Amino acid sequence: MLKVFTCLTTEHDLRLVVLAAIVCALATFTAVNILHHVDRTDARSKRTWIWVSALTTGFGIWATHFIAMIAFQPRIPSGYNIGLTAFSMLEAIVITGVGLAISRSDNLAGARYIGGIVVAAGIAVMHFTGMMAFEVQGHIKWDSQLVVVSILLAGLLGAFALPVALKSNHFGRKLSGAFILMLAICSHHFTAMGAAEIIPDPTVLVSNLAVPTIWLGIAVAVTSIAILGLTVLALVLDLREQRRANESLRIRQLADAAVEGLIVCDDSRIVSANLSFCELANTREEDAVIRPVQSFFEDFDKVELAASDNSPVETLLKVSDEETVPVELINREIFFCGRPHRLLAIRDIRERKDAEKEIHFLAHNDPLTKLPNRNRFNEELDQLFAGQATSRNCFAVMLIDLDHFKQINDVYGHMVGDQVLKVSAESIKKALRPGDFIGRLGGDEFAVIVPNLTSPDDAEKIADRIKQSLVEGSLELPRGVSIGASIGIAACPDHAKTADTLLRHADASLYDAKANGRGIHRTFDSEMFERLKTNREIQIELIEAIKNDDLHLVYQPIVDTQSGETLGFETLARWDHSELGEIPPSIFIPIAEESGLISQIGEWVLKKACKEAAGWKKPLSVAVNVSPKQLHGSDLPAVVRGILKKTGLEPSRLDLEITETALIADPEKAKRVLDKLKAIGVRLSMDDFGTGYSSLSNLRIFPFDQIKIDQSFVHGADSNEESASIVRAVIGLAHELKLSVLAEGVETCNEMNFLREQSCDLAQGYLLGRPLPISEYEHCILADVESNVIKFDIDLRSSRAS
Ligand code: C2E
Ligand code: CA
Ligand code: CA
Repeated sequence: MLKVFTCLTTEHDLRLVVLAAIVCALATFTAVNILHHVDRTDARSKRTWIWVSALTTGFGIWATHFIAMIAFQPRIPSGYNIGLTAFSMLEAIVITGVGLAISRSDNLAGARYIGGIVVAAGIAVMHFTGMMAFEVQGHIKWDSQLVVVSILLAGLLGAFALPVALKSNHFGRKLSGAFILMLAICSHHFTAMGAAEIIPDPTVLVSNLAVPTIWLGIAVAVTSIAILGLTVLALVLDLREQRRANESLRIRQLADAAVEGLIVCDDSRIVSANLSFCELANTREEDAVIRPVQSFFEDFDKVELAASDNSPVETLLKVSDEETVPVELINREIFFCGRPHRLLAIRDIRERKDAEKEIHFLAHNDPLTKLPNRNRFNEELDQLFAGQATSRNCFAVMLIDLDHFKQINDVYGHMVGDQVLKVSAESIKKALRPGDFIGRLGGDEFAVIVPNLTSPDDAEKIADRIKQSLVEGSLELPRGVSIGASIGIAACPDHAKTADTLLRHADASLYDAKANGRGIHRTFDSEMFERLKTNREIQIELIEAIKNDDLHLVYQPIVDTQSGETLGFETLARWDHSELGEIPPSIFIPIAEESGLISQIGEWVLKKACKEAAGWKKPLSVAVNVSPKQLHGSDLPAVVRGILKKTGLEPSRLDLEITETALIADPEKAKRVLDKLKAIGVRLSMDDFGTGYSSLSNLRIFPFDQIKIDQSFVHGADSNEESASIVRAVIGLAHELKLSVLAEGVETCNEMNFLREQSCDLAQGYLLGRPLPISEYEHCILADVESNVIKFDIDLRSSRAS
């Protein structure tokens, strides 16, 4: 080591040694900087820049060596072999070039260490070739130990220089790396110089070809200038890179701030992806950039196609093996890193899709029951008819109308009404087969399409199931509320060849079902359609009927359950239609209520019934139905008073039947009217008790004299425990309130006997007499006839009324 030190201090011009170190430092720092630039260029430019870096390193090693040689003053004649000197420079460039290329290899483990060692080999090879180029008047004797040390020093430091320099782009790192490389070059040179001892020998001649030191100085100066030039180049590159880095950081931040996902692709390779994309696709950028862009999308061809006209395309982004997200994609060409790239902007359209779905749902479904609405139902029906051209498939439409829904709504309120609709929808669904289609057409009207039938009769079986299911569904509803339905059926191709006709015919069947007592189904037949008319037509004809006196009254006996004596009659209106025959009140009374004609009809019935009863020999009572509209309409008490006065009927013989529903709309007004009627002296009956509110307090508040138990409880009361207990409870309750009880719809002797046992006061029903013209009951109204007493035990016990 002393030898090296003395060699450095005594045999060298120290100023030039410092210069050599500066040139070396400049070169190594420049080389490291250029080497970093390699990373940011494409594959072709990479190689060029590695060799520019190799040029700088080679120049640096060479210049350091020869400046140091110039600094070396052997004090005997010396010179430099021009060929070897030039060759040594070439060696330095080529070998370090190989080393640097190795250090940048991605596939080799420990590439940077190996590369560094190769660079160190370049330093040593250059040095000893350079020494071979050094001609001196004497011999050079080498200290082999120091030679080994010099090579080891270069190797060791070289091995660490590149890993340190390339670890990051950080200035300190680059500087440290460059410094270690400089140490490798300088320590090697001076140790190796220390290993050389020149033994002067005047017999050895310096060849004529050897260039003197001055020429070497010029070459070194040129090389140093080249190094300076390269340094400036590195500096420019560095600044540009810095600027680009800042720019790309800003762009990156901007891209990451974007709500939309952005990916930049070089052909199909993803080069960059922003934060939004990574979040949306549930990936990391490192993972995204190693996947081809197609792997992220379903049917990417569509995206490629749309790229030509710049229009956004909707596709699915694969988020995982099972999950996809609907996205909108815009495909643009951009210049990125100086080359054309493809930019894909990806917008998450889940919310939009959900909203679209919701809108679509609302446009095609009923929000309450979630069933398809009328539009959707019509579409489905049209589709079936379209398919009918190819297949001769039999299918049917069923229109289902809930019975007494309006009443339920009025009495129990809309909440219960809604619940009834929901339960009905569910119940009907339960009764259907897979593939049957159900919709809600509006209000309490549902419709079902039943395809693939062997005959229209199959539809009737389904209708039966629907009715049964509705009965079961009623159990979910509040006590007292039950669902029943009328169903109209029409089938294709038997009953209609177009959707329009099929619906009209199903509607006609429904009408028929309703007219025949509700709670039943009817399948279309052509005569039915002839008979039926629209509400509007009926309304017009009803006006005519009132004018032409086409309405008449029938009377149904009201009988004392214990004695069997007829105590009075209920009057029921009938309409004799010239074409349609007798139209029941269940058809025309609702139409009259809707159109307001009911007041006129009601007044006519009242007048007619009172006049009739006033003429009877026996002072039997007459019961007249009063509609809710009449009760709340123009002054009913005044009308009643006027009629009683005019006809001379005793007020106590008139019984006004009012349903509980009629009271609910405006209970205070109802109370005022009933009180006034009561004051006149007429009797008041609560009709159809049990189907409405069935409220005890209504019985207390309103001045009723009698309760009429609805026929639905009376039928089978003798055998059905539930009906029996209701009838029993109502009778008990009524008697406690000092009200008389009338049971409606008595059809069998067993029912009658049951009522007698329960001390029901009065009874009415087919068993005791059907509603008929009063002429049929003349025997009852004649004062001297005894036969108006019906003897159940003897005459009628076993037979059911027909
Ligand atoms: P309502 O007041 O409950 O009348 C009793 C209904 O039950 C009548 O039907 C009667 O024919 C029927 N009926 C009587 N006994 C039996 C039986 O044993 N079994 C069966 N299954 N049914 C029986 P109708 O005449 O069709 O009247 C239906 C409804 O029309 C009446 O029900 C009433 O609410 C209304 N109505 C009838 N006439 C008038 C009227 O003049 N004015 C008003 N406002 N409504 C009327
Ligand atoms: Ca009645
Ligand atoms: Ca009734």
